Amino acid sequence: MSKTKAYSAASATSPLAPDTIQRRETTERDVQIEILYCGICHSDLHTVRDEWSSFMPTTFPCVPGHEIVGRVVKVGSGVTGFKPGDVVGVGCLVDSDHSCPSCRADVEQFCPAATFTYNSPDKHQGGVTYGGYSESIVVDESFVLRVPSNLDPAAAAPLLCAGITTYSPIRRWGEIRGKKVGVVGLGGLGHMGVKFARAFGAHVVVFTTSPSKKEDALRLGAHEVVVSTDAEQMQAHAGSFDFILDTISADHDINVYLGMLGLDGNVTLVGAPEKPLAVSAFALIFGRKSLSGSLIGGIKETQEMLDFCGKHNIISDVEVIPIQKVNEAYERLVKSDVKYRFSIDMASLKN
Ligand SMILES: [Zn+2]
Ligand SMILES: [Zn+2]
Repeated sequence: MSKTKAYSAASATSPLAPDTIQRRETTERDVQIEILYCGICHSDLHTVRDEWSSFMPTTFPCVPGHEIVGRVVKVGSGVTGFKPGDVVGVGCLVDSDHSCPSCRADVEQFCPAATFTYNSPDKHQGGVTYGGYSESIVVDESFVLRVPSNLDPAAAAPLLCAGITTYSPIRRWGEIRGKKVGVVGLGGLGHMGVKFARAFGAHVVVFTTSPSKKEDALRLGAHEVVVSTDAEQMQAHAGSFDFILDTISADHDINVYLGMLGLDGNVTLVGAPEKPLAVSAFALIFGRKSLSGSLIGGIKETQEMLDFCGKHNIISDVEVIPIQKVNEAYERLVKSDVKYRFSIDMASLKN
């Protein structure tokens, strides 16, 4: 076991504060990683504040963070894919049972025994897993990802959650080149959705409630921006979309977006509003439309996404902060006051 500096929350109402945690010694399958950057995902905040207590209660102390980019410092004797010095990533998953139907289908995120990067039972050490707001992490080789060397590591970190969350449904939709794709919401997820949809050759339209985001949406790759509170603008696009990626986690009327779809169109949810959505059957049956959801991606697909980002030079737009500013960053995140993801420089943990 090795002592590792981290930032943890002691309770649902405590701010994140310096702490020391234990990381296991590398087993033969393990990779030990010095963490360089860790993105701040909205899930970190929900978990630290125990806002998902009804289905995923938080065990305290909690060390969040699942958008990790770091450098390999040590590998176990059986590790074949990585060596010290490699720049690697770790996302939302650090282990699974490797054998269930989901694991065999390369969708480990749906494994009933999946070990999430934080707040998940830790089968090596007992207690729960601790995430990326720390100096280092030890992870089974099969859950470690290669980060292309041309990508800025600070801006690559959010690819490990926000990136794969948006890449996976767009990729799975099918041949999207030339199709009309909507992205609802321009935050951490939405800004990545725009970049991916554009890179795949779609005609990209951003739906936003803030007219002030128009310039930014176009800069990020959107062809058009629709202010969703403007009925006339919305009417002009009704019935014309092939696919809409809905990244909103606040309450909103999903029927409005189903109405934007053309024949056989699909709305995929990647945001998670707290209350159940009201869905009009008519909005679905007229036009044979569908509504579905998507959750991150498996390890194989996450590697494919990173390689795609390397090839197309896709990174997240980040604001790099020292760990000492993490509580302030959470306050700003609640107000969506970040363009578009915070990335924590873990060298600051040494201060
Ligand atoms: Zn996340
Ligand atoms: Zn499994």
